[in-house]
This record gives sequence, C-alpha cells and structure tokens, in this order.
Amino acid sequence: MMASLFGDALLPSPKPVRVVPVLVPLPVPVAYSYAVPEGMHVEPGSVVQVPVGPRQVIGVVWDGENDERLDPKKLRPITLVFDCPPLSKDMRDFVDWVSAYTLSPPGLVARMAIRAPAALDPEPMVEGLRYLGGEPDRLTPARTRVLDLAKEQDVPWTRSGMANAAGVSLSVIDGLIKQGMFDTVFLPPPPVVARPEPDYIAPRIEGPQKYAAEEIVSSIKAGGFAASLIDGVTGSGKTEVYFEAVAETLRRGKQVMILLPEIALTPAFLERFEQRFGAKPAEWHSDLSPRMREKVWRGVVTGEVRVVAGARSALFLPFEELGLIIVDEEHDPAYKQEDRVFYNARDMAVVRARIGDFPVVLVSATPSVESQVNGLSGRYNLVQLPTRFGDAALPDLHLIDMRRHPPERGGFLSPLLLRAMARTLEKKEQSLLFLNRRGYAPLTLCRVCGHRFQCPQCSSWLVEHRFRNQIQCHQCGYHQPTPEACPECGTLDHLVACGPGVERIAEEVEKHFPDARTIVMSSDILGGVKRMRLELEAIAKGDVDIVIGTQLVAKGHNFPLMTLVGIVDADLGLSNGDPRAAERTFQLLSQVTGRAGRTGLKSHGLIQTFQPMHPVMQAIVSGDSTAFYEREINEREKALLPPFGRLASLIVSADTRADAENHARGLRAAAPHVSGIAVLGPAEAPIALVRGRYRFRLLVHGRRNSDMQAFLKSMLSNGPKARGTVQVQLDVDPQSF
Ligand code: ADP
Ligand code: ZN
Repeated sequence: MMASLFGDALLPSPKPVRVVPVLVPLPVPVAYSYAVPEGMHVEPGSVVQVPVGPRQVIGVVWDGENDERLDPKKLRPITLVFDCPPLSKDMRDFVDWVSAYTLSPPGLVARMAIRAPAALDPEPMVEGLRYLGGEPDRLTPARTRVLDLAKEQDVPWTRSGMANAAGVSLSVIDGLIKQGMFDTVFLPPPPVVARPEPDYIAPRIEGPQKYAAEEIVSSIKAGGFAASLIDGVTGSGKTEVYFEAVAETLRRGKQVMILLPEIALTPAFLERFEQRFGAKPAEWHSDLSPRMREKVWRGVVTGEVRVVAGARSALFLPFEELGLIIVDEEHDPAYKQEDRVFYNARDMAVVRARIGDFPVVLVSATPSVESQVNGLSGRYNLVQLPTRFGDAALPDLHLIDMRRHPPERGGFLSPLLLRAMARTLEKKEQSLLFLNRRGYAPLTLCRVCGHRFQCPQCSSWLVEHRFRNQIQCHQCGYHQPTPEACPECGTLDHLVACGPGVERIAEEVEKHFPDARTIVMSSDILGGVKRMRLELEAIAKGDVDIVIGTQLVAKGHNFPLMTLVGIVDADLGLSNGDPRAAERTFQLLSQVTGRAGRTGLKSHGLIQTFQPMHPVMQAIVSGDSTAFYEREINEREKALLPPFGRLASLIVSADTRADAENHARGLRAAAPHVSGIAVLGPAEAPIALVRGRYRFRLLVHGRRNSDMQAFLKSMLSNGPKARGTVQVQLDVDPQSF
C-alpha cells in the first residue's frame, strides 16, 4: 500500500528537459516551443530541424523566456542541430528589428538569414605543375616566356593557366614537361574567391575625391556606427572613393558588403574591383548556381570570403565579422522587396550597421529625397562630388519639344533626334535610345469596333510582342498568339498598335538606318542573364551602333563609345499620379543620360518631351539638381509625405470584388482613433485586378513620430479576420503612394 503510494516519487526523476523557442519559416507571429532532447546542445542562434505537423522544417533557436507552464514532456523535441555557427546576437536582433518594423512574421525574416548547410561533394583535386629548374635542350621564344614566368612566380601553375599567362599553346607546356622541367603535383581545390588586398593597385586620389575619401575613411577609423552619403554626378569617381573605405575596412580585418541593384548584369564591376584589389568579390544574387550559393554562404559565415557584392538579399547573409556596408545607387527602386517580407534594403542596411555598430555608406548620383534630407540635416555625413573625374564632361543635354518638332506620321522619333543619330553613326560612335516599355505596343485595338485587348485575369492591356508574335500581360505573364481577327467583331487585319515599345522603335530605327548594327535590350532577350551579359559586352566593345533599351541598359554600365542618348518619351513616368513620380523620373533620366560620354568624347543627350517646362525637364537640362531637390523636399514637407510623415499601405485582395472591398472596409472601421494618423480609402488599388484577384487599398498616413506599427497592429487585430480567399498585404514605407 505504502509503496504504491510513494512508489512513483521514489523513482529517479527524469533529467529536466529544457524548452527553447524556435522560429520556423512559416507566417506565424511567434516562435514555437520545442524540447531539447538530452545530450543535445543548442544555444540561441543554433540552426535546427524541427517537426511542424507532419513535416520537418529548418528553424533557428531564438532568444527569450519560455512559458514556465509548458511541460517539456508534452512538447515535440528538436530533431537535429546543424553543424554550422549559430546566428549571431547582432543578426538575431536585426531579424527581430526587421520583423517588428515591417510587421512580417519573424520566421519569414529569419528564413532569409539561415539555410541548412548542405553537404558538398569534396572538390576535385587540381593537377598543378611545379618548376624543377634547369634549361631545355632547345630554347624557343615561347619556351623562354614560360620559363621566365615560372621563375618569376614560383607558385604551382595549372597546365592551361600557365599556357594562358605565357600566351603559348598547351603543346609548348607539354614539351617542357617531357624535358623534365616540370613535375606534376596535386593542389588543394582553389578557395571560393581569392583574398582582396587593400593596397593592391590604389589610384591616386586628389582634390574633391580626396576630401570625400578622407571624410569616410575617418568615420571608419573612429569606429562605431556612422552613415554617410556620397552624392556625386555619374563618372565623378564615387566608386573609387568608396573603394578607399573598403580598403580601410579590409586593413582592419573586417568583412565588407557592397549592395548593387543589378549585380547579375554588371560583371564589369567585379573586374574593376579585381583591378583595384587583386581579387574579385564573391557574388550574391538569385542567378547563382546552388553549389556556388552554398560555397559563398559558407565562406561568408567562416570569414573566408572578405567582400561580397550582392543584390538586396545579401543583406541577410550572416557574416562572421562585418565591418562596412556600401549601398551603391541607393535611390534604386530595385532595393525594395515586395514579396512576402516587404522591406527596403537601403533602409535596412542602415539598421544593420547601427545594430552591428559599424559604418554604412550610401552612394548615388541622384539620391533619394529621404537620403538627401538626412544628408542636409546632418544625420548622415554628406560628401559631394559635383564634377566628372578627369577630362570626361557631362553630356550636353537638350530638350526636344515634341509639339514643335513632331515625328513623321506613324513614327516616334523627332527629326532632330534622327539627325543627331545620323551624325553619331558617321563618327562611328554609339547611340542609345531609351524607352522604358517592353514589347512592340502597349495597347492593341480593333480599328473597326474599338475592341481593346485586355488580360482576362488582370486590369491591364495586353502588350504586343512582335518578335514572339504574342500579346502578353505584363502583370501576370498571360499570353496568346497575336490574333489576326478581332474577337469582338471578327474583322480581319484591322488591329492597330497604339503607342510605342522598344520593338517598335527598333523598327523605326531600321527604316532610317538600315545598315546600322542595332540591338534591342530588354528583359525579353531570349537566353536570360547569360545572353544579356554577352550583349552588354558587345555594346561595350563597340560591336553595336544603336542600342534601343529599357532601364536594363540604364544602370551601372560603362560604354566607352556611347556619345548620344535619346530619351524617346521623357513624360512616360510623370502621368501616373504618384507623388514620387517626379523624383523617379529625374533619377531615371539622369542615370540614362549619364551613360553618355564617360570616356572624354563629346557627348549629347536629347530628351523628347511634351512638357519642356516641367520642373523635372528643367532640372535635367540645367544640371541644377539642387533647386529640384529643394522643391521636392518642400512639397513633401508641406504634404507631410515621407520623410516628413509616415505611410503604410494595405492591399486587400480576394477572389470577388465584394469580399475584397468588405474586408477593407472592415479594417478601416477597426482603425483606432489616434491623433496624427489617418486612414485613407479603401479605394481600388492602382492595379485593381491581378491574376483574377480583386484588390482594394487602404493608405495609412501619419505624422513623422507617430507609432505606425502600433496603429497597424491594433487595426489588424481588432479588424475582421482574413477568411476564405481574402489576403492582406502590408507595406510599411510603400514605394508608390
Ligand atoms: P562614379 O562611380 O561616380 O560613376 P567612377 O568611380 O566609376 O565614377 O569613376 C569614373 C571613371 O574615372 C572611371 O573610369 C574610373 O576608373 C576613373 N577614376 C575615378 N577616380 C580615379 C582616380 N583617382 N584615378 C584614376 N582614375 C579614376
Ligand atoms: Zn494578366
């Protein structure tokens, strides 16, 4: 009796099992609790595998106390711990910060920073050659070159590496091996990337560049967080200036992250970096092979990789010891991710630097209004480079008033622009015609009944693509062969293309310059990024006379022979009612015209517009960006728009219009009453139908120091729960508003 009463208590009690919070990559608001099995070691940051329902997922052990009431025996245990360094406290704080700011589930943010380390196959050993000394029986010039090289650089060469470096054929090398000059050794596999050296080949830095570099380097020497903005015209030497900051950080033994909006398309940047530092940075973007991703990720974590040049996703790489972030082209809209976690990598780079307590440098020829305000107010160190480096002059810019110089019937290029193109061709130089519109024509209609071709699932017109003989939706990718007859009235051959896309401009160019080598550069190029890189190289080499391109050619490229830039429709981005339209247009036009004349040749920019007196056009031709920014800043301040106020947008979508609208109304009704914050809408979203889903938008507008996140949270938790097909997308600091 007694024994049975106390029996259980007398048994040795099981070892207390620990409970830890684990972030899982799911859209849930909190970490889940898991038991740590006996003998398993985990700490905050450990990357683990855990069960969720019937699945196993990758998660990360998080900080924070656990609910005491949880019984570890009732919790599921962690399945395994991956053998990789835990996510650092700084990275965990960063993930928490991004999650709290963007109101995204922390697990979805953490997912961007972790990956399950895959087992890589061992790298194959590389066969190398070692110079043994001695002379061959017969000394040819080719053999001399090889031997000189081998004596000069006593490193194990690969057979082909040596042949290339000496400029000889492989048979020369093989001949020398036969003669016993070399023996074969096995080398360990090469590292992911070689180590950049801070003082490999540093250029002379003088004048304004010197002041700029000193300012930034001193912030690195001082240590700790500092934000700087390099504001300098295209070709002013901004890159060389921030390379000085990179060099100083490398000297201090820290890693560097350089963010670039189009890194996959700018291999020239990697080469330029190599010329300066003797080794390329590691690349990070969505176009890497899985194997390369794995290697770079490991190199970053272990510290083997010292410098990463990457797209916005590089921001979440868990560096071993990061000491500097550069955000080049900081104004670029590509830094905004609008998918799952909505974040602006430029802004989050500043946050990451603040948490890690190291400097961040933003760089642009046309800084965002936000960064300008921070520079002018002294929150950021502002360094300016107002002129191009060396004897390269900025292009001469002129407006073409399209009301006074109209194109010929059916065309889109003014006679003034065509004449300038002819002169450029005669000089054997290059022209770029810029039009930010893919395809042949943005709208197709029937001349007889007026039928317009519209996407069946989106509120957008179908865009004709003549190269592919298709009409396409640029929202959802829907496409169909270009019809011959109107589906409405059945009339044959009466479809008219309205307005130009790059393909249509190419047609017009070919008519006027049939012998010129012409290329259309847009994301429709068949063959993807690889092919685009080749085409960009061909342009840089001068194998092309006339480039007709979308913004794909606007960014970051250096085309030495390009001396004429023609903007086909400068007004295109101004008419969409977005308060940021003027800023964006100014940035885009400056960037595109900045492609011309980078090597000292006299260059021109011709800008076709129907609004020559528009402040953007005036700012572009006068080169006076100060007045333009002042005006933009004033207008934003008056309207309390960012950065003088805060904005968030909520897009509510559903399979029916009524569901979307009702839910949006419900959210609005649930908004708390807070002075200084107002909810606008709901109204139909700018694109009201996408992929068959109806969209309504609410805009939340608050004063600068209002607690936007608390407001949104309260609205979402008090409002109707999203049911059925309803989805709510939350965008804090939306790009367009
Ligand atoms: P940005 O980044 O402002 O467009 P870059 O740094 O690309 O300007 O410089 C423009 C050109 O001038 C490049 O070809 C670059 O190599 C050259 N350059 C800039 N600074 C120097 C320097 N200090 N010494 C030699 N060449 C320089
Ligand atoms: Zn569509």
